[in-house]
Amino acid sequence: MGDICLLCLKESELRYSHILPEFFYLKTYESRDAHRTLEITHDAERTIQKGLREYLFCQECETKLSRYEGYAAKLVKDISNIKSNNGEKYLRLENIDYLRFKLFQLSILWRASIAKGIAFTQVSLGPHEEIIRSMLNDENPGKSTDYGCLMMMMPNTEVLHQILVSPVRVIPRPFGHTAYKFMTGNITWLFFVTSHRINNQVQELFLQETGLLKIYLASDEKAVLINLAKDFAPLRDLR
Ligand SMILES: [Zn+2]
Repeated sequence: MGDICLLCLKESELRYSHILPEFFYLKTYESRDAHRTLEITHDAERTIQKGLREYLFCQECETKLSRYEGYAAKLVKDISNIKSNNGEKYLRLENIDYLRFKLFQLSILWRASIAKGIAFTQVSLGPHEEIIRSMLNDENPGKSTDYGCLMMMMPNTEVLHQILVSPVRVIPRPFGHTAYKFMTGNITWLFFVTSHRINNQVQELFLQETGLLKIYLASDEKAVLINLAKDFAPLRDLR
């Protein structure tokens, strides 16, 4: 008599799974001062207690998810340590493994939705939760625009590198879509959960099936959204 794995839905003994991947809790930025830790909280955002776990998955599904995590961990570490150069607006990465990195992105969004812990209460995917579960279980990354994730990187990595805040539903809704924001270190992940068409400027910032990933280099997030939206009225929706 086991419990039911939340990914494959088979009866099994469940592992005590990390809700967010373990590497999110590790320092990604190679600081000269190894002992420096800084936590920032503001508004409704709260830093997440390190290493939050729940009984979620069978061993087989844990292993499946860990394959995406292994790939993503290395990529995210590399990204975090790239020095932004001469006022470039984007970091442009090619040859990303679309299947593995997209499934990784979907997995963090979905895991925050299925988690019961108070740190994840703002993420609730409704009917999209089952759709994404099925995509993850079938190892189907979907199209670039399916639950696309816009990634932003802040330049002040020394300040930001060890932050992990509770994911939030973004209010007001960017471009009129439901979106969830995860902040891990100096990288912000903005997921669009919508059945409606997303404007091209935003779509281009999702991981592309060709393996192209553009990461927005930002001094602050609000500036990014306003800049992206300047051709799109009404701007007041962004405040
Ligand atoms: Zn399973």
